[in-house]
Amino acid sequence: MKMTRKYVASHEAGHVVVATILNVGFTDVYIADSFNHVGEGGAIHYTPSSFHPIFDAKSEVILKMAGEAGVRLYAGRKAGKITLNNILGGGMWTDYKLAKDITKDMLARIKTGKMYPSYLDEFCVKGEFSVDKFIDSCFLAAYDILSANREFHARVTKALVETGELGFVQVKTLAIAAAREKFQIEKAARAGSR
Ligand SMILES: [Zn+2]
Repeated sequence: MKMTRKYVASHEAGHVVVATILNVGFTDVYIADSFNHVGEGGAIHYTPSSFHPIFDAKSEVILKMAGEAGVRLYAGRKAGKITLNNILGGGMWTDYKLAKDITKDMLARIKTGKMYPSYLDEFCVKGEFSVDKFIDSCFLAAYDILSANREFHARVTKALVETGELGFVQVKTLAIAAAREKFQIEKAARAGSR
């Protein structure tokens, strides 16, 4: 997959839209102008948080997987599966590695703290926790969040392609504009069906 400006923008827009919906703080998001190496070509800067409860590992992994979900949604593709090809060549190597680290860290803390959130049971195969199954489900959750906020994601992608960077307030403004448009379309549909 070629790392075009639109590609990178739709990836970063994925992170920033999911962060907004999950109420995760960030200051800004940007994409770089040229891609001389295989990498993300952009970044979102989250505001520091000092406390990561075990139960929050899921939303952290959902946030990491939102970049690739954004790319697929913007290209009009179904969520599908994460392949080795995506991980190595699709600009999501760092995201995937961090998603694995977060999951392993969660498991390590569960072992020492003897706490086990029951929702994790569904990710066990023959009594063993499956890291890949957990990451896959977080990827699908990210895709679902973006599908439900398609207009917002499209607006953030477009604005990133045009300006290269967006601050927190600009992203919020786009969220409000997208919500307003969705409301108007639904209102018109209701009026039409009367
Ligand atoms: Zn990313």
